[in-house]
Amino acid sequence: MESLIAAAKAHGFSHATEVDPSALVPRDEVRQMCSANLCSAYGTNWMCPPACGPLSTSTQTLRRFHEGLLVQLTAQLEDSFDYEAMMAADKLARKLVSTFLPTVRERFPKAIALGNGACDLCKTCTYPSKPCRRPTRAIQSMESFGLVVSEACEAANLPYYYGPNTITYTGCYLLR
Ligand code: SF4
Repeated sequence: MESLIAAAKAHGFSHATEVDPSALVPRDEVRQMCSANLCSAYGTNWMCPPACGPLSTSTQTLRRFHEGLLVQLTAQLEDSFDYEAMMAADKLARKLVSTFLPTVRERFPKAIALGNGACDLCKTCTYPSKPCRRPTRAIQSMESFGLVVSEACEAANLPYYYGPNTITYTGCYLLR
């Protein structure tokens, strides 16, 4: 695990540490927020509800894994309205989670990744007319999985917030 943590930091994550999958709890309240569709992704992506399946699917997935890696990208903002830097950090965090997955799978072939935001591996998601183009690479968000991100950070003993004029995006890998 120590070498994987070091590799995650070398890949570009600001913070990385071990997390116990049994400490991660999918919650109905988070799924209800998905249904409110504030992100406009509900019902548009194979990795978002309702296509990603009921919350019980997340619970069953968590039971299959006994080790996890939580990763974060923290970015500096000019001020709390620095939308441009927020969007850039969001995009970079998605890319880091996706591009680090092959490294994780060299050690844990069945690992899955959870990231920030709806899966954006394709320019346009095929949902619902055709099957997912890259089912083994598609990435579900922490939220669509049902996780409260701040709770996941707490479970990993990492801060969720790194102070004024910063923004942090969090992802995790379920390893085995
Ligand atoms: S890999 Fe492509 S088709 Fe599959 S969920 Fe992601 S965006 Fe949609």
